[in-house]
Amino acid sequence: MENNDQLISHALKPDFENTKVAFSQKSDIALKKSYLLFSSMNNSTLVGFGTGMVSKLLQWKFPIKSIIKKTLFEQFCGGEDRDDCDRVIAELGAAGIGTILDFAVEGATDEKGFERTEKETIANIKKSSGSEHIPFCVFKPTGLGPNKVLEKLHIREKLSESEQVAYNRMYQRFERICNAAAKNKVKLLIDAEETWLQNPLDDIIYQMMEKYNKDEPIIFNTFQLYCKDKLAQLKQANELAQQKGFKLGAKLVRGAYMEKERERAKRKGYPSPIQPNKDATDQDYNAALRYCIENIGQIAVLNGTHNEKSNYFLVELMEKASLAHNDKSVYFAQLYGMSDHISYNLSHAGYNVAKYVPYGPVQAVMPYLFRRAEENTSIAGQSSREFNLIKKEMKRRKKDK
Ligand SMILES: Cc1cc2nc3c(=O)[nH]c(=O)nc-3n(C[C@H](O)[C@H](O)[C@H](O)COP(=O)(O)OP(=O)(O)OC[C@H]3O[C@@H](n4cnc5c(N)ncnc54)[C@H](O)[C@@H]3O)c2cc1C
Repeated sequence: MENNDQLISHALKPDFENTKVAFSQKSDIALKKSYLLFSSMNNSTLVGFGTGMVSKLLQWKFPIKSIIKKTLFEQFCGGEDRDDCDRVIAELGAAGIGTILDFAVEGATDEKGFERTEKETIANIKKSSGSEHIPFCVFKPTGLGPNKVLEKLHIREKLSESEQVAYNRMYQRFERICNAAAKNKVKLLIDAEETWLQNPLDDIIYQMMEKYNKDEPIIFNTFQLYCKDKLAQLKQANELAQQKGFKLGAKLVRGAYMEKERERAKRKGYPSPIQPNKDATDQDYNAALRYCIENIGQIAVLNGTHNEKSNYFLVELMEKASLAHNDKSVYFAQLYGMSDHISYNLSHAGYNVAKYVPYGPVQAVMPYLFRRAEENTSIAGQSSREFNLIKKEMKRRKKDK
């Protein structure tokens, strides 16, 4: 029997063309600001030159922090620290969109850095447990221990004594974070990075799931479907979960490190783990979504994509399976500052939506901001999708006045 909320949300179909809903929270001034930002990001030469220049200027301690803060940072980040994100959390919350607090300082390489990742993640979990607007927390597992140790374990190489100590510390950090998530009943996403580090991480993650996902999915692993073997691994993970009696939390993404993966495989002379082309990635992505919906309840899925077709496809799968739009086992997720036409329209139609909201000191999150800038440059002379959507909404507002 469906409740009223479910009946209401069943009625609406999301329409990603609806820019009125997409930008409903942006004033004319805010929209104009985004327009100027995305129009300058459209210029790939400017972005290329700008990212190099900004890095240098920051290194030389030029006072450009306030300019970056008012432009790129404001568009893509929630704030410089956790509590600084409260305004964004409330803004997204008012549109029914959840926040996924993401400590975006990358490149921890020593114990101090690893401890900081642990502390930030646990503090985020605690903040999340008191807020209906923060349904998930997230962390990057390489922020908890040395890559070298993971790389060795991945190829089953024996660790030295000191490496074993470092691994044990990493494991304990994992354990404390997952324990905090379970205690506070906060769902926890674990990002995926390079394939050559992933096997030992998977081992830890499934041990954590066995411990903490007995009744409900708390811990979510990430499946990068640009890997040739990821669809099979998703199925294996679900078989393991069924054997051991736990729920599988699955965050699906296509994958962000394609060039790096291909380059390393070539340099080291092993077959690339990446799919031969985009179409093969898309096919496995769809198949993974279908598999998750076929096993929904046993699996909880988070669809981490800015691809409109993949989002419509999940909507369609849910409809065919007669799932309520707000079924608690299905989430859609995008990054803050991007693809609002997807997030806001899905939420408007009653689906569970959340956005990664990265935070951290301006200088420390620059690598994240540069990646966003590069993603939004024009491709083959075509303006970026974000830019076109903002332009469309500005035109619509002008006409309606
Ligand atoms: C909420 C969220 C969380 C994320 N978390 C992670 C994470 O933990 N780990 C991670 O790696 N990424 C993560 N990403 C990034 C993600 O993997 C993609 O890089 C990004 O979202 C672009 O893919 P898309 O599905 O949105 O869009 P699309 O434009 O449809 O897909 C682009 C992607 O397709 C694949 N692709 C493109 N060309 C080819 C080709 N020639 N051959 C094979 N494959 C190709 C690549 O993966 C590329 O990134 C996350 C994204 C979101 C929105």
